[in-house]
Amino acid sequence: MAQRNNQNQEPTKSWGLLILRFLSVKVILIVILLFVGISALGVLIGGSTQQDTLGVGGGCSVSGELNEETFNQTLEQAGVFKGKGNLFISIAKEQNIDPVLFAAIAMSETGWGTSKAVVEKNNPGGIMDSATGMSTVKRFSSLKEGMEAMGVTLHNRIVVDGLTTIEKLGNVYAPIGVANDPNNLNANWIPTVTAIADKFGGLTMNCSNTGSSGGTGKYIIPVKNPRVSSGFSDRINPVTGVHESHKGLDFAQPIGSDILAADDGKVVVVMKPAVSGSGFGGYGFVTLIEHGKNKEWTLYGHQSEILVKVGQKVKQGQVIGKVGSTGQSTGPHLHFEIRKKKMGGQVDPAPVLGVLATS
Ligand SMILES: [Zn+2]
Repeated sequence: MAQRNNQNQEPTKSWGLLILRFLSVKVILIVILLFVGISALGVLIGGSTQQDTLGVGGGCSVSGELNEETFNQTLEQAGVFKGKGNLFISIAKEQNIDPVLFAAIAMSETGWGTSKAVVEKNNPGGIMDSATGMSTVKRFSSLKEGMEAMGVTLHNRIVVDGLTTIEKLGNVYAPIGVANDPNNLNANWIPTVTAIADKFGGLTMNCSNTGSSGGTGKYIIPVKNPRVSSGFSDRINPVTGVHESHKGLDFAQPIGSDILAADDGKVVVVMKPAVSGSGFGGYGFVTLIEHGKNKEWTLYGHQSEILVKVGQKVKQGQVIGKVGSTGQSTGPHLHFEIRKKKMGGQVDPAPVLGVLATS
């Protein structure tokens, strides 16, 4: 009763207060509406991502497992690719790409293994010849060689550049509306490759960097009980004028200590030891791991023992080797690098790992 009185009285008594109240209710309403709006937008965005993963219109339809029977059977009707299932699979494994996507693009590019380029020049991927100024397709000495070259190209687009869906690849492989495509054939690329991939049993990996080639994107310190004995430096010493270049972090460790993979990834280089001229000279027993999530590489040098092989997928924290003092090393330690490129582009791991280091 008292309340109703209050409500009846106040409007006449104080318009200002009412307006204020009204305003604050409005502000609250607006905030709520905004919040709901943003959530709805989030759902929409989430929804479209979801659609992408479900493979509508050339997105990422990942069934997970390769159905080898379907895969090989489908290749039976594929011209020169008949019986090449194992070759597709082994090259795909080597390059950390999806054999289904690899084969689907090869079918699309070659009219199911019947094009002149693949029949006469063993070229399934439309790779142009730099010797002719890219005016003709390159000739390979065998179909295997041509497929391997295509595998490397796809690895660079999918793993290195991160084009993890058919759509993203299509925008690069077959851009719509370009001058060299007057009949607009490129518009068919995405739906064609998608349909062929489905025939092969559906994509199995690479989409949005899923699988062990992806990783968490956040590196862990690659040794237990870390003690940094030498930091990262890449500078001209202002006093001595000498170029100081130590493009990694050194963790002093007893010989035989465990070395841990900094993140999920794929082993791309193992040398026991690295020889000069290999690009890894001086590192002794060295391992390089490619991380799909960050599109980066981590390097582990001077090991006494390496426990992984090239092509092997590793998990974050997995013991991949043992600390040693091989190569150009003055004492047992792990030399650890984070690289933006496979062959270089080192960055200081200290801030990334959150460890203190002075150079
Ligand atoms: Zn070092």
